[in-house]
Amino acid sequence: MGGALVVLSGPSGCGKSSLVNEILKYEDAYFSISTTTREIRDGEEEGVNYFYVSKEEFKKDIEDGNFLEWAEVHGNYYGTSIKPVLKALDEKKVVIFDIDVQGHEIVKKKFPLLTTSVFITTPSQKELENRLINRATDSEEVIQNRLINAKEEMKRADEYEFFIINDDFSKALNELKKIIEVAKLKKPLKFIEDFGSSW
Ligand code: 5GP
Repeated sequence: MGGALVVLSGPSGCGKSSLVNEILKYEDAYFSISTTTREIRDGEEEGVNYFYVSKEEFKKDIEDGNFLEWAEVHGNYYGTSIKPVLKALDEKKVVIFDIDVQGHEIVKKKFPLLTTSVFITTPSQKELENRLINRATDSEEVIQNRLINAKEEMKRADEYEFFIINDDFSKALNELKKIIEVAKLKKPLKFIEDFGSSW
């Protein structure tokens, strides 16, 4: 296997999706489209942002072992399907995940040498709140829930290798591009072992 796993986490509304969209314009990467039980938002598309399923369908996927990881976030379920990730790795692609801190913990445990982790955030809580309000996709209650969750997520930012403050978008993008270049240099355990035995 080749390829690289790049995990992006950070408060909902910090700009992860916009950064990923820019990266996908030039990098032949696979963005891991998660499955979720949350409602589709205005502007989102089935199979582009997420696969939207019922709680029953999600539970069936868990039972069938279809997820590399899954978690409950903001009262909804989110999961990463394992098959497309393995396929992309086999094709030596960079796989980009937009998953929460719980998901990162699992991916890192399963692929310790291949995972590169990046925590992305806004310069302040106030700025996050402004962005969520301006995005106008969520109700006041949902926004408050996301802000509470963001404070909890921020406490775990030290579990990540890289930290990006998305204040200036092009600067943040530039930092992420460099991190992805470094991620591609990581070697999987199997490669190192095989190299070691034939060395
Ligand atoms: P949103 O509802 O704003 O799209 O996402 C809410 C949170 O769920 C974000 O922090 C996002 O990173 C996280 N998330 C999205 N997909 C997954 C997934 O497959 N697994 C996990 N663990 N978290 C996810």
